This record gives sequence, structure tokens and C-alpha cells, in this order.
Amino acid sequence: MEKDVFCKIIDGEIPSYRIYEDDDVIAILDISQVTKGHTLVISKKHYENFLATPKDVMHKVMDVAQRIGQAQITTLNAKGVNILTNCYPEAGQTVMHFHVHVIPRYENNDGFILTMKENDGDLNLPSICESIRREMK
Ligand code: 5GP
Repeated sequence: MEKDVFCKIIDGEIPSYRIYEDDDVIAILDISQVTKGHTLVISKKHYENFLATPKDVMHKVMDVAQRIGQAQITTLNAKGVNILTNCYPEAGQTVMHFHVHVIPRYENNDGFILTMKENDGDLNLPSICESIRREMK
């Protein structure tokens, strides 16, 4: 199977700006820099996405994401941070290898737009609530 871009970065076949590395996790600057300092925290072992990742690995990745977000606030003068992980193409995932975006946010229009549509009122919330609750592992 063809290696994905993050496997190639982890194996040193593609260069990257590495902020952090341990046995399980690396963190690199995202090539797109949607805002200054936009970072990707990536599991070294290949899993398709957040939903498919074992909890111990997911916890290690989230620990590094938290520490990177804290550092972005103190060193880059960011005023906020978005922690984002896309699961499957319908949710915007383009690289099928678990990673978390840590996106520092700045005052005024920093160029990153995240919008949420409000419930238009015709959803059956009790039924939705119950079906998700029942299916949780
Ligand atoms: P996704 O869309 O899967 O949530 O995020 C994938 C991210 O990987 C994108 O933000 C994209 O800019 C980043 N990316 C893709 N190719 C490379 C690369 O070669 N180097 C780095 N540093 N980031 C990449």
C-alpha cells in the first residue's frame, strides 16, 4: 500500500518543521499555515483517524496538542486556539492518518473561519439523544 504523506514525514522521506517528537507522537508545522503557527500533532503509528485510534495513543496525541496550544498562547501572542480533528472526507479529512490540528487564533480577522449552523427546529432531539446514548461504548 502507498504510504500517506504523514508516514513519509515520520520516516524522514519528506522534510518538515518538527516541533516535538517522542516514541509515539510527532508535531510539525502544517504546510498550509491557516494562521501563524498552525501545527499538526500526529500519531507515529498509522491509524485512519481519531475514531479509529486506540485510547492510549489518542490520549498521548491530545496531551501534546494541549501543550502546543499552551505554548502558542505564550510565545506567539495568540489569544485563542482551535483544536480540531477531521474524521473521514465528509468532515474535511484529506490525509487518512490520525492527526490533530492546533490552530492559534489572533485578534480581529485572522483568516480562519469556523461557522456552525443553528438547529432549524425540526430535529427530534429526544430521539437523537437516546440513539447516541444507547450506542456509546
Ligand atoms: P486534514 O484535511 O486531513 O484534516 O488535514 C491535513 C493537513 O495536512 C492539511 O492542513 C494540509 O495542509 C497538511 N499537509 C498536507 N501535506 C503536507 C505536507 O507535506 N507537509 C505538511 N507539513 N503538512 C501537510
